[in-house]
Amino acid sequence: MMELDEPASDVEENNPKEVDDERIEFNVNYSDNWRDDFTESELYSMKLKQTLEQYSIPTQAGRDITYFIRLMIKRTQKATKAGDIAPTILFQDTLDAVLKKKLPVKYDDLNVCHNGCIVFSENMSECDRCKKDNSKSPKRKSKTMKMLNIGSQIATILCDKQTRELIEYPRNEFQFKQGEYTDIFSDEEYQRLSSRSNTCKEADLNIYMGLYIDGFENTNVSKHQHFSILHLLFFNFPPHLRADCICP
Ligand SMILES: [Zn+2]
Repeated sequence: MMELDEPASDVEENNPKEVDDERIEFNVNYSDNWRDDFTESELYSMKLKQTLEQYSIPTQAGRDITYFIRLMIKRTQKATKAGDIAPTILFQDTLDAVLKKKLPVKYDDLNVCHNGCIVFSENMSECDRCKKDNSKSPKRKSKTMKMLNIGSQIATILCDKQTRELIEYPRNEFQFKQGEYTDIFSDEEYQRLSSRSNTCKEADLNIYMGLYIDGFENTNVSKHQHFSILHLLFFNFPPHLRADCICP
């Protein structure tokens, strides 16, 4: 184990990566018994390098992980010196379980076909399109997709008096003024739709949501990976609360 009280003082702060690389090169090329000549920091770094290469992890991700590990070591050293509990990294499965327990937003994990064709239902043993199996063994789990049940989130909001009052903003607080755009409800399209629909007018409560999708390519990380961000906005809350998390 690395002694956490002893910082890796042989590594320069300003350009640590180059210093480490030089040292590894030097030892590999000029030492007969090279393994003994490596410092513990260098051996740890080589282990990381091996893992990054084994899984074809992009160079930028490798740098980010390195910065992150260094930050973590610094925090651990500080905590140890101060006699506090040192932070550690959780395994991803444990983290998922912790997030599920602690986050106010509850989501379900659904098994999906490895090729992305379908979401598996409980008793499906294989994908009915590509025949890929729905593995339930803990060692070889299926791909999963997180699904947020919006209906149950809204139900939770409705059950609480305080949040229910807040989501009645469009009916109770918003005031339409001709020629003045103060909110999405001032929009011509909304006004036209709501004036035509008796169902909307007569309903106890209307729920207004907006779904925004923004796709981008993170060229620093990988040129062929596309990312999409989904934003679901709940317009029933007053505008100043819409970007906040409101949990009953
Ligand atoms: Zn499939």
